Amino acid sequence: MHQPAVPHLHDQDPEIAGLVEDEARRQYEKLRLIASENYVSPAVLEASGTVLTNKYSEGYAGRRYYEGQQFVDPIETVAIERAKELFGTEHANVQPYSGSPANLAVYMAFLDPGDPVMGLSLPMGGHLTHGWSVSATGKWFRSVRYDVRADTGCVDMDQVRDLALKERPKLIWCGGTAIPRIIDFPAFAEIARETGAVLAADIAHIAGLVAGGAHPSPVGHADVITTTTHKTLRGPRGAMILSTAEHAKAVDKAVFPGLQGGPHDHTTAAIAVALKEASQPDFPAYAHQIVANARALAAALVERGYDLISGGTDNHLTLMDLTNKGIGGKPAAQALDRAGIELNYNAVPFDTRKPFDPSGLRVGTGAITTRGLTERHMPQIAAWMDEVVQAATKQDESVVERVAGEVREMLASYPIPGWTPTP
Ligand SMILES: *Cc1c(COP(=O)(O)O)cnc(C)c1O
Repeated sequence: MHQPAVPHLHDQDPEIAGLVEDEARRQYEKLRLIASENYVSPAVLEASGTVLTNKYSEGYAGRRYYEGQQFVDPIETVAIERAKELFGTEHANVQPYSGSPANLAVYMAFLDPGDPVMGLSLPMGGHLTHGWSVSATGKWFRSVRYDVRADTGCVDMDQVRDLALKERPKLIWCGGTAIPRIIDFPAFAEIARETGAVLAADIAHIAGLVAGGAHPSPVGHADVITTTTHKTLRGPRGAMILSTAEHAKAVDKAVFPGLQGGPHDHTTAAIAVALKEASQPDFPAYAHQIVANARALAAALVERGYDLISGGTDNHLTLMDLTNKGIGGKPAAQALDRAGIELNYNAVPFDTRKPFDPSGLRVGTGAITTRGLTERHMPQIAAWMDEVVQAATKQDESVVERVAGEVREMLASYPIPGWTPTP
């Protein structure tokens, strides 16, 4: 884009500028398969780095506690209107600092401390903030967990219903961080209605797919929807809470003054830009390409004898169980990273290994799709992954080095938004 990428930072603080430059190069040279990551557009990058970071704006447009909101108010209003339009909701709050605070705000809006909350358990693909024990949400609320079925790898809706009838949670979460299949929002909604619970859909991972029509929407089913803005939605680090008009006041009050102080206005602007991008005619093609890539990658991995939770994927991610390959997720992920293939080790349902060294790998296609890779690249990626996993079981670093070179060479034809290498 420009060289150096950060000229003022380069002069003022070469140490940090150098590290930022190194990170940009790393993102350029690696095949980034972390399911929660992406590449934002230059416009989103620019919006996040503006003078808006200088402003304080506690409150909401027209009702602020600080003066000088002549331009921040319309920025936040535009972001809200774009969110409502894109997802088809009556209300949007764009102030949560990130996904975890957005989820906490949902507790704040609907629950009292100690109230029962139900969510997918963490090792089964749920998120920490859905009531897992080490999270504030698991410590301050009475948490009830549902699982996936051992035979299908999918959420057991009969168990969800039985548990909800027995435990009467005030809040039910659906969604998670390692769910490779479509989330059945209507089925969750029916259970929530039957048991008198509030249904919260956490679409952090799949928001871009929902916006692009590549995954069913929870709108009309869930009472409240939370999402990060930086995963498949391809915006800045941030989050939103979407709801019906009925819950608007409770949601807004929970975010501010319930949980947060001043919103990050530079992030709000960048969210607005990302939402505009997501409403463009080419966005659905991106969303569907993510899924096509994930399916093609999953099929190529299955062909090479890899065991996938639920047997495949309907969305952007695949969860691999390496048990039959004789290697843990962590050493495999580390070898793959050295080979230029960046992903994360992950627990698999009913994992027999420890959380810090689980059996699985999570693989996502959001970032590589943004970069322009398509189905035709996926067999090669699966072949590299297989080579490296096998080499890792024999501690063969020569394969790792060769693959790193091949990955770099292939990716050199696919520029990343926001940075170009110096020749
Ligand atoms: C990523 C994620 C979050 C949390 O987002 P942070 O921005 O990391 O706090 C919450 N829920 C789900 C399902 C997620 O995948």
